[in-house]
Amino acid sequence: MIVLEENVMISGYTALYGLVAHPAHHSLSPMIHNLGFKQHQIDARYLVFESQARPQDVARAILTLGVAGVNLSMPYKQSLVPLMDELMPTAQLVGAINTVALRSGKLVGTNTDGDGFWRALQKRYPNLASQQIVILGGGGAALAVIEAAARYGVVTIQVFKRQNTTYAAVEQRLAKIANHHSMSIVLHNYADEQALQQALSTADCVINATNIGMVNTPGLPMAAPLIGQIPMTCLVADLIYAPRQTAFLQLAARSGHPTQNGLGMLVEQAALSFQFWTGQVLQTDPIYHALTKEF
Ligand code: NAP
Repeated sequence: MIVLEENVMISGYTALYGLVAHPAHHSLSPMIHNLGFKQHQIDARYLVFESQARPQDVARAILTLGVAGVNLSMPYKQSLVPLMDELMPTAQLVGAINTVALRSGKLVGTNTDGDGFWRALQKRYPNLASQQIVILGGGGAALAVIEAAARYGVVTIQVFKRQNTTYAAVEQRLAKIANHHSMSIVLHNYADEQALQQALSTADCVINATNIGMVNTPGLPMAAPLIGQIPMTCLVADLIYAPRQTAFLQLAARSGHPTQNGLGMLVEQAALSFQFWTGQVLQTDPIYHALTKEF
């Protein structure tokens, strides 16, 4: 918890923002956004709404109560998409939203996850030029990172995803993104180790966008010997930020690779949501500093 100020004033005009998700109580977003409101002296507060309500009830609550903006996480990122009055192009391509703004009584949805990831990477490694990337997983976060990649110079993406009921739909969405951005995106079966080995040999950035490595789902997203075959100059990234260093990042760092965890992405996607709502640029360095002190 971060203490914002003594004698906090909340007026009849204080705007309300929040996170709607389940689970949500663990979220760091209230810290980030409330520090942002303080940074810019904006009369607003950001709260957590731990919710399992129906998507249409969430949308109605935002509209009825005049909630100025929300972030969405599980299980709402896709289910609220059809309830938006307007979708930003990136959200249309990804098929998921993490940010909603209430503008003149209309719900406007966008997705800041992908740009958040690449902005964080560029801040930490300004000279890094990723052109060929390998991404493990084809869920919502992976698709957002893939959609944004073209804006950061990536030309070829090899995606590895389990061949299950969602495979065909992900393949279709990847084709749409590839077509829109005129880039090459190839989807492989996650179990195809030979294809993975081949893809890794030419990659300059490998990203774990699966859930493997989280506190409740520990493990490695690829066999340990394969990590040893990633080129030394290749950056190894994980979208996970809890734990701060997954087993995957630990092994990669130990073999000398530059690494990046998901904390920077968390802060940068929040900064982009903040800007979408308020038009103000969030200074992320002090926020990143506060979060690293807090952990
Ligand atoms: P999601 O939509 O549920 O996608 C999860 C992906 O992981 C799916 O592609 C799933 O495969 C794959 N997966 C799960 N278990 C697997 C296994 N045992 N073997 C192979 N693949 C497996 O979740 P998401 O929202 O994309 O999130 C993915 C990760 O990103 C999570 O760790 C999340 O915490 C992190 N994330 C971080 C940020 C941040 O700001 N740093 C933001 C968003 C998400 P199938 O498709 O085959 O089911």
